[in-house]
Amino acid sequence: MTEIRTAGALFLPPEIESAIRSAINPAERILCVSHVSPDGDAIGSLLGMGWILRHLGKKPTLALADKPSADFNFIPGFDQIVAPSAVADSYDLIICLDASSQDRMGNVYRPEVHGQTPLLVIDHHITNTNFGTLNWVEPGCAAVCQMLVYLADAMGAPLNGSLAVALLTGLITDTLGLRTSNTDAHVLQAAMRLTDGGAILHEIVARTILSRSFAGMRLWGLILSEAKLQDRVIWATISRDQRKAAGAQDGEGEGLAGFLVSAKEADIGATFTERVNKAGEAVVECSFRAKPGFDVSQVALSFGGGGHPPAAGCTLTGPLAEVAAQVSAALQEARRSQLAARKEPTMNSVVHG
Ligand code: 5GP
Ligand code: MN
Repeated sequence: MTEIRTAGALFLPPEIESAIRSAINPAERILCVSHVSPDGDAIGSLLGMGWILRHLGKKPTLALADKPSADFNFIPGFDQIVAPSAVADSYDLIICLDASSQDRMGNVYRPEVHGQTPLLVIDHHITNTNFGTLNWVEPGCAAVCQMLVYLADAMGAPLNGSLAVALLTGLITDTLGLRTSNTDAHVLQAAMRLTDGGAILHEIVARTILSRSFAGMRLWGLILSEAKLQDRVIWATISRDQRKAAGAQDGEGEGLAGFLVSAKEADIGATFTERVNKAGEAVVECSFRAKPGFDVSQVALSFGGGGHPPAAGCTLTGPLAEVAAQVSAALQEARRSQLAARKEPTMNSVVHG
């Protein structure tokens, strides 16, 4: 297994480039996959990788375990994404994008039939478990779509047309419109190059982060009136009955944890959403957000999930109220210990006063 973690690389480091080339060049049948409950970076990086591979003369299969939201159908190639039933048993190479662990690929990846196939993991989650045979993990990048800008450069794929639209979509959605704390000059440079290549920033913003359904708004209305705040942790539960009452489908009303953490009185925000998984079991999807200076990725990891310091999540089984009580207590505890760790004198605080 090869692990390559780079410190904020702004290009594809040569050793990664040659490893990726050696993996891609001989491969005829390539499967690309991203994570369950796909977001803009999952869909954008999947489609973007598809366009890079087509530039190299390949005909990849692009698959997702969950049906992607039609909100993203403006990205060229969206209609070619297939469901797990269309995924074959045999490939020369599997490329996994924006997933921090193997289970995040859902039932697209079947370990019993795909376990021997070379697996190239391209990801930016600090909690990545290096589950590939070749892992390019770059926590310094704000989106996998940012990493693919550097991959496209290395592979000679021009950053325009369909590829630019796909990559700018992931960059915009993962940075909430270039506003997150990891939006640095390199992110802006990548965004600038994609807009220069023809992707229209305001149209992508309007179709993604600024677009909501009425049912989703009604759901937020129901949920917000019952939100709880304790020790600067704010959280809310979303039951199946509430989603039914609001007429909200899966995916509608997403983003509430990010809204909750905008409360002046909070450092950490969380939502707990009751769902039934493919096996028919009741599960609770937990979504966490933290203000800069706080880290929710480790709490997510401790419950078997993952993510980034400011945005992370996990999926647990158990009754909604119990999961919410247990996990919100863990978030309060994590916040307290992060504050305590900050107060301990360090060499730096002595040196810098
Ligand atoms: P969201 O709250 O938007 O669903 O997810 C925020 C971040 O946490 C994303 O980077 C996502 O990949 C990660 N995340 C959310 N849920 C899970 C989960 O169940 N398992 C893992 N490994 N990561 C998750
Ligand atoms: Mn991402």
